[in-house]
Amino acid sequence: AAGDGLVVASNRQPYRHDYGDDGEVTVDRPAGGLTAGLDEVMRRVDGTWIAWGDGEADAAVVDGDDTVAVPPDGDAGGTYTLRRLWLDGDEVQGYYYELSNQVLWPLCHAALATVESCGDAWADYRRVNEQFADAMAAAATDADGDPLVWLHDYHLALAPRQLRERAGAGPTLAHTWHIPWPSWDTFRACPNRDALLDGLLGNDLLVFHVPRYCENFLRSADRGLDGAAVDVDAGTVEYRGRTTTVRAAPMGVPADRIREQAGSAEAAGFRAAFRKNRGIDRDTRLAVGVDRLDYTKGVVQRLDAFERLFADNPRYRGELTFVQIGTESRSAIPAYADYQERVEAAVDRVNDRFATDDWRPVVYTTDMISNEGLAGLYREADLGVVSPVRDGMNLVAQEYVAAGADDPGVLVLSDQAGVHDTLGEWAVSVRPHDTNGFAAALDDALSMPERERRRRANALADGIEDDDLDSWLADVLSAVAGVASADGGVP
Ligand code: UDP
Repeated sequence: AAGDGLVVASNRQPYRHDYGDDGEVTVDRPAGGLTAGLDEVMRRVDGTWIAWGDGEADAAVVDGDDTVAVPPDGDAGGTYTLRRLWLDGDEVQGYYYELSNQVLWPLCHAALATVESCGDAWADYRRVNEQFADAMAAAATDADGDPLVWLHDYHLALAPRQLRERAGAGPTLAHTWHIPWPSWDTFRACPNRDALLDGLLGNDLLVFHVPRYCENFLRSADRGLDGAAVDVDAGTVEYRGRTTTVRAAPMGVPADRIREQAGSAEAAGFRAAFRKNRGIDRDTRLAVGVDRLDYTKGVVQRLDAFERLFADNPRYRGELTFVQIGTESRSAIPAYADYQERVEAAVDRVNDRFATDDWRPVVYTTDMISNEGLAGLYREADLGVVSPVRDGMNLVAQEYVAAGADDPGVLVLSDQAGVHDTLGEWAVSVRPHDTNGFAAALDDALSMPERERRRRANALADGIEDDDLDSWLADVLSAVAGVASADGGVP
């Protein structure tokens, strides 16, 4: 098992402790696909997960060594160790809000005009990465044999090198980068780009979701670092006496679980209540979008396209409602607060223009919706509309397909999502900024003959079942085994 001595590190923790209304301690369970999937693995192998504690009661429940066993009710499925780090307000601001989310996030999504100037934030980022490296080194020392340390995402780019300096050649370091890696021509705008590349090349294995990002990274290392020997075809970088292997493994979703959720009584109940509460007639067709309110998600462009659709095709008025679920995200950052306002303004504009007494073209909500509720909406919708202007992978597109099962709808998918590389052939592709083309694609998707719709949906369903979350985990772990045996390292 890859598990003995598995150490995971991520910005976000899998469990968060807070205080309820009566002052009792409550536990928030993992919601996202990645955390839920990794949580299952960790419960099987009894590893250590290192993350930053952001819950009100997080510090109250840990032992003297800042650890807590999770999940609290985990006897049957097993438990593992959550090791929490403590960041002060300035560190959260500099490391998380500024460097991670106002420099690296827009940079990697090729939104250079959205990158903010950073002063001291870089020092905070470095310091927090050091905290992670210290904790990972301690967990690696405590583990049996030479453990696998698996880091996640752009918050921890310096930590691999820092960990290497602390722990030496022993542990195997793998790092999954969940967002795009931009072309060198974009990446070269990064302040401290050398340190970032150097940090990531402390890993034995660096994993992106699609081959394009691997190639971009390899070319960035080649152009950006003196003394790096890069083999783009082999996917390797030799630098400072070690080899980093760069691989693609497209992340999937727990397809079986989502299909079950979509067919549950709770899902059916949610769907019926949603239509009733939002004033959507029983026979009105639905298109659905589900996004964190992030400027990379293309929600504004999507609303432009729906406006054009209703303007050019009056037959859809009164017949089709576009439901947009948008959860608030990173609202303390001005670019995000602005984006939320732009989405609301676009929703109002389309509704003001076309709504009638008994029909609205757009229903928009920022309510938190349960997994069952979401799966139910996906299943109900004739169209799943996923139109990011740039996205590392995109799980919502896959969830829409997984939920569809018996009478699947049509996936309308931006060619700027990583998942378009694998599902694009069977989706209706759009370029999010091409309003006319996007509107025409929506029309095509809505009027697609049933045979064609089923042919595409079956191919999509096969694709996401073959490449589901478990298969992604297996792919990453087998890539780890490959680099570990090449090294003669890990047992
Ligand atoms: N999600 C959710 N409620 C929302 C919006 C998103 O539960 O209102 C979930 C969604 O089901 C998916 C994840 O958040 O599992 C988003 O993953 P994705 O890769 O699509 O985008 P990210 O937010 O990670 O950029």
